[in-house]
Amino acid sequence: MLIRNRTAFENARLITTIIFDKTGTLTKGSHELQEVKVLNKTFDERELLRLASGIEQHSEHYIATGLMRKVKELNITIPKAEKFNYMPGIGLEGIVDGKEIKVVGPNYLKEENISVTGATDDFTGTVVYILVNNTVVGYFTFSDQIRENSFDAIQILKQAGIKNLLLTGDNEKVAKKVSDELKMDGYLANVLPHDKLEKVKELQQKGEYIAMTGDGVNDAPALAQADVGIAVGSGTDVAAETADIILVNSDPKDIANLILFGKATYNKMIQNLWWAAGYNILAIPLAAGVLYNWDIVLSPAVGAVLMSLSTIVVAINAKLLKA
Ligand code: ADP
Ligand code: MG
Repeated sequence: MLIRNRTAFENARLITTIIFDKTGTLTKGSHELQEVKVLNKTFDERELLRLASGIEQHSEHYIATGLMRKVKELNITIPKAEKFNYMPGIGLEGIVDGKEIKVVGPNYLKEENISVTGATDDFTGTVVYILVNNTVVGYFTFSDQIRENSFDAIQILKQAGIKNLLLTGDNEKVAKKVSDELKMDGYLANVLPHDKLEKVKELQQKGEYIAMTGDGVNDAPALAQADVGIAVGSGTDVAAETADIILVNSDPKDIANLILFGKATYNKMIQNLWWAAGYNILAIPLAAGVLYNWDIVLSPAVGAVLMSLSTIVVAINAKLLKA
């Protein structure tokens, strides 16, 4: 774990709600390509993969990595794309072989009022559609896995009284599945990058102290807006630059431990303040002779010993802090 500034660590103890991005944060982002579904018989599976790879080769999203892995496995020659355009939280577009190609998530279809027959109703994974000249000609499905430590991380945070929320650009079904499996407090699906930022603001206005964890380029504005921004290590440079804390091992449990450690350190600090100040509060008036009439005066020699003792107690107490 890399903590970019001390304030971030000190602020960790104030966190009341922690927002998790799904893909790559609570899940591995492994995105194995499951199925290539052809919806227009003028194309076959290989051709859909080939056209998609033309634009996906320019993306750093897990979807792109998963698709390109399959394309290389099948020895498909990757075509060039012109006018490549990335639509944040939506998908990609570009011209391949003179055709207008789009690879986009379900929210694009909803926005454009496009309905797809033979849809993916019983699939709980990530689905992206491929459009050729604005007609849906097929879709790709990907499966991802929840990270081993995600469940523990959420439970540790819950026990510490910190609320958790899943925010994802992915579809409702995947979001619900991950949220249910991890017993999270709630989730929001189909959230565009801009809306992630707005959601952070909205919660802050309600008085919540927000930590946001994410990985993508998309999450950078929300990471910056959060009171504590946490980037997972496998993420992009932009996210890493914006974040206060970087999880080098991409382990969500590190987040939970960091927050608990922040709280424990703070409690120790307060205890030590009492140990150090308490000595002065008691000993200085004694040395000054407030109890002189009762024959109680602190001699300079005893005072010196007590002062050293208080320093030793503070040091030992600090040592007892368990990481
Ligand atoms: P998350 O919040 O899960 O990290 P993103 O905001 O990165 O998700 O992406 C949200 C959605 O945008 C994806 O689920 C997908 O529908 C679409 N998308 C993003 N990148 C790509 C890509 N390279 N190819 C196709 N679709 C993409
Ligand atoms: Mg993401």
